[in-house]
Amino acid sequence: MSQTVDRALFDEVMVPNYAPSAVIPVRGEGSRLWDQQEREYIDFAGGIAVSCLGHCHPALVNALTEQGNKLWHLSNVLTNEPALRLAKKLVDNTFAEKVFFCNSGAEANEAALKLARRYAIDHHHANKTKIIAFEQGFHGRTFFTVTVGGQASYSDGFGPKPGDVQHIPYNDLAALEQLIDDDTCAVMMEPLQGEGGIISPDLSFVKQVRELCDRHNALLIFDEVQTGVGRTGALYAYQGLGVQPDILTSAKALGGGFPIGAMLTTTEIAQTFKVGTHGSTYGGNPLACAVAETAFDLINTPEVLEGVQQREQWFREQLAAINAKYDVFAEVRGKGLLIGAVLNEQYQGRARDFLMAAADCGLMVLVAGANVVRFTPSLVISEADVREGMQRFEQAVAKVVAA
Ligand code: PLP
Repeated sequence: MSQTVDRALFDEVMVPNYAPSAVIPVRGEGSRLWDQQEREYIDFAGGIAVSCLGHCHPALVNALTEQGNKLWHLSNVLTNEPALRLAKKLVDNTFAEKVFFCNSGAEANEAALKLARRYAIDHHHANKTKIIAFEQGFHGRTFFTVTVGGQASYSDGFGPKPGDVQHIPYNDLAALEQLIDDDTCAVMMEPLQGEGGIISPDLSFVKQVRELCDRHNALLIFDEVQTGVGRTGALYAYQGLGVQPDILTSAKALGGGFPIGAMLTTTEIAQTFKVGTHGSTYGGNPLACAVAETAFDLINTPEVLEGVQQREQWFREQLAAINAKYDVFAEVRGKGLLIGAVLNEQYQGRARDFLMAAADCGLMVLVAGANVVRFTPSLVISEADVREGMQRFEQAVAKVVAA
């Protein structure tokens, strides 16, 4: 007899570090998903800001199958054409001159942090190891990245942490001025905090961070794992802010749903990684890079990037209309298609209730902490899907309000 595959099987065989919904999607197309019972959902979550072109975009399916029929894997003993083509495109379209490929956001950040530490030790002095990061920041789940992330609960309880990492409140210039010194090797920040609650940086703050890094010979690392590849309406968010980092990390939408991460930097900084200093078996594999190259070509056009700003307007208008009726949000914030609807006093701590109610109404949304409902849909979602999704969201809001 064949095994029943349902949510109960998760509890039986999976490590219990996630608590997935009972819904098990089996198929996706564009911004729609279907579950095992053929129930259909509109996807405003996009796999947490990953599926930038929706599900099973024909061009990505084509890139995957074409490359899948040619060559999947080589390891970094050999290079490959898709990796070189993708790296060239990243370099041509950003401040960066060099690229390191890996498989996830955490790995890209791990590489960035190791690079910043080694660069400071090689070029300055052995004590230049301080890393400054921000409360509520999120950079991944390896031990180094979770320590640099701004939620101690994610890094506590695993024994001694990587040292010399300090946190200050986001947008707090005075705190940074006080903490940064010549022993600082790097400041790491998201140019819009995602997991921490969709919090935008003050432009003057980001400019000052850049200046303070320059004054103290510290590298500025922008974690663009969530904000990158068109999410905020610019190819990378730093371009919209007009402040250039020394190291940038990218993942999530980079592969349009196929795992890949990248760390971008200048030639001068990149020289610090000599042969053997860092590496990854799968990083830059031809399959991931072929899909990512196609996703990159499709996203990096004026139509798609301007379309993100148009879609942000649709979301904001329709969220405002829902809020005018039900009065549940204090604020709608974020940029592009990284949007947070912040619950007002009356609904504090209940973001998950909205997420559950939305799923009941046939809509996938996300939360960002306990008080923010987060929307990170496909960057090319149609107006009809946004409208219908928002109708379902209105039903979900009505349910929560009535409960
Ligand atoms: N950095 C940021 C800003 C993120 O939002 C995330 C994931 O949510 C990560 C890093 C970690 O990426 P991954 O889960 O691919 O390791």
